[in-house]
Amino acid sequence: MAADGVVIVTGANRGIGRGLAADLARTGWPVALVGRSLDKLQEAARDLPSAAVARCYAADVSQWEDVQAVVAAIQADFPAIHGLVNNAGITRDGLVVRMSPEDWQAVINVNLNGTFYFTRSVAPIMMRQRAGRIVNISSVIGLIGNAGQANYAASKAAIVAMTKSVARELGGRGVTCNAIAPGFIETDMTAGLPEKVRADMLQRIPLKRLGRVEDLAGVVRFLLSPDAAWITGQTLVVDGGMVM
Ligand code: NDP
Repeated sequence: MAADGVVIVTGANRGIGRGLAADLARTGWPVALVGRSLDKLQEAARDLPSAAVARCYAADVSQWEDVQAVVAAIQADFPAIHGLVNNAGITRDGLVVRMSPEDWQAVINVNLNGTFYFTRSVAPIMMRQRAGRIVNISSVIGLIGNAGQANYAASKAAIVAMTKSVARELGGRGVTCNAIAPGFIETDMTAGLPEKVRADMLQRIPLKRLGRVEDLAGVVRFLLSPDAAWITGQTLVVDGGMVM
């Protein structure tokens, strides 16, 4: 495993990505924070411990040219790329009979194409290193579907299938690719949901509380660690037991 390898986290300026990047930085990983706005990323990076090695890179993950340029910059700045956490994601909810093609495409472009563009750019580097860890952030919605989220569910289910394919392709070079499927995590993405939806969700969670970013951080850190060296192609459900 690359000693000084950086871990790239996309969508790192807020929500889950910000929390994951902060956790990794606190536990000693050099981190590359990727997001659309350099200002917002730098604000997130200011909260990190002073000893943390963190650099910020502006990219829209749905733009292939942006992703290629950012990965080249990260490669120039760090001796190795240890990990890639494909986290950036959006929702554009609506019933399928009313969903516009634009809302369908927007979600696929960010959630699925963004994951592909980063994987496509980083995988050759990891293959040359003969080491590397890819962690994709899927969702329980990709496993069970959800009324009003056909676009989001499709993007997250595709990430599960892509994870298995990439795991099969890269395993021979010592590179693992896994996913996590979080349940309901309290971030901006879920903040707008009506109280009734939150209460219904809570009813369905055996562990009787909604999730926090911290509930995911240790799982991602594990998948990036030597302890997970023989795990690949898996999707770990982290949802308080809602889907089983
Ligand atoms: P937030 O909406 O809080 O944050 C999303 C992050 O993604 C932001 O940093 C946002 O940046 C970034 N982002 C969005 N579009 C792009 C883009 N085109 N290029 C670069 N960055 C982009 O969401 P969460 O933190 O809740 O979600 C993070 C991931 O976890 C997503 O993939 C989501 O689907 C997944 N997830 C979330 C769950 C939840 O309950 N919250 C449950 C299951 C999965 P900006 O500030 O510029 O918009």
